[in-house]
Amino acid sequence: MVLAASAHDKTPHDALAADFMAQTACSRGAMTAPALSCRPMADSTPKPVREIRINPIVPSESVLVATARGMRPKKAEAPAPRDTRGHVETCPFCAGNEHMTPPVIAAYPDEKNWEIRIVENLYPVLGDDRSNPNLSFGLQQTIDGYGRHEVMIDHNRHGIAIHEMSEPHLAMLFTAYRDRMEQLYQSNSRLRYVLVFKNFGPAAGASITHTHSQMVATPVIPDNVQTEVSNSRAYYRQHHHCIFCSLIDEALTFEATLYDRESGEIRRKISVGQYVIERLGKFIAIKPFASRYEWEVHILPLAHQSDFLRIAKEDMTDLARLMRRTMARLDAVLGGAQYNYFLHSLPHDKNSEDCDASYHWHLEITPRTSIPSGFELGSGLFVNTVAPETAAEKLRAVKLE
Ligand SMILES: [Zn+2]
Ligand SMILES: [Zn+2]
Ligand SMILES: [Zn+2]
Repeated sequence: MVLAASAHDKTPHDALAADFMAQTACSRGAMTAPALSCRPMADSTPKPVREIRINPIVPSESVLVATARGMRPKKAEAPAPRDTRGHVETCPFCAGNEHMTPPVIAAYPDEKNWEIRIVENLYPVLGDDRSNPNLSFGLQQTIDGYGRHEVMIDHNRHGIAIHEMSEPHLAMLFTAYRDRMEQLYQSNSRLRYVLVFKNFGPAAGASITHTHSQMVATPVIPDNVQTEVSNSRAYYRQHHHCIFCSLIDEALTFEATLYDRESGEIRRKISVGQYVIERLGKFIAIKPFASRYEWEVHILPLAHQSDFLRIAKEDMTDLARLMRRTMARLDAVLGGAQYNYFLHSLPHDKNSEDCDASYHWHLEITPRTSIPSGFELGSGLFVNTVAPETAAEKLRAVKLE
C-alpha cells in the first residue's frame, strides 16, 4: 500500500506523515530462495553465519543473515542525540503549552493533571473529509484518503525514555492504546484497521523529540498486517494450530543439532530458549529467528489471543513490566537506540472474522541501527549483520535491577 498525502511545507509535524509511510511501505520482494550456504560450525565458538532465513509468517520479509562481513557500508551505530530535558518552553507537547496543540481527544488520568494526552494530528496523513472526488483512472486506482490520524503524547516529561517510565505509567499507556483503538473502531464502521506505532529518533522518523506515539485508523488493512493475517490463516487450515503459538512453543521446547550430511560436522545447534529474551507473567519477549533488524524484538501474549482489545486489565501490569525491561535491555546494549515499535492486532473487518484462532497479536520493536542499502531496497531482502542468536544472548545478559 502506498499512501499519498500532500503535506504542508516544512513544519515540525509534516514528518509525521512520513512516519506512517515508513511503517507501511516496507519493501516487499518475493524472494524465497533456499539457504545460500552454511559453514560447518565448531561446537563452541560462534562461526560467521551467512544464510537466507525465511520468515515463517511472511516469507517475502525474509532476511540475509551475514555476520562475517558487513553487507552494509559500515555505519556508526550512533545513538539518537537524546533530548533528556524534562520541560521545553517552546514544545507544543509539553505541559503548559496545551493551547499549541489541536483540541484534546482524551487525557489520562484526567485533563487537568494529564500524564498522557491524545490530540488530533495537526497535519494528518488521512482526514475525516472527502476532499477528493474519485480520481481513479485505468490502473491508477486510488482509495479515498479517509481515516483518522492522532498523536498520543506518551508522558508529560519531554525527554523521558520508555525504560525510564514507571510500570504503572506504561500500563496506563497500553490501556490508552487499547481504549482509543476501541473507540476508533466503534466511531465508524468504515475503519478497518487502527495502527498504533511509535517512532523514536530521527533515523526512525520522529520529527518531534517529545515522547509520543501515533494512531492511524484506515479504511484499508495495511499490507503487512493483511499478509500476516492471510498467511497465518493458511497455516491454521493446514495444521489446526496458530503459527505464533507454534513459534513460542518451539522457542520454549525445541532442541536440535543439524549436521552436515557429507562431512558430519555440526552445522547448527539450536538450544531451548535460544531466542527467548524474557518470559514474564503472561507474556514473552522473543528474538525472531529471521529478524529483519539486528536488534528486533517481539513481545507476545503466551496464551493465544488474536485481538489486543481483549487483553485483560490485570495483565497490563505484566505487559508494562516486560516492555520496560525489554527497552532497558536494548538501551543498555545500544545506548539510546533510535527505534520504531508497532502493534499488530486482528483487523476489524468481515474477512478477518474467522481468524480469531489463527492470528495472534504482537508488538514489534525494531531498533534502527543501519540504513537500508541499495541491495535491500532492490531485492526486498533485509540484511542482518548480527546473528539473532548472538543478539538474543547479549540482550538476555543485561543485568537489570
Ligand atoms: Zn515537550
Ligand atoms: Zn496463537
Ligand atoms: Zn507483525
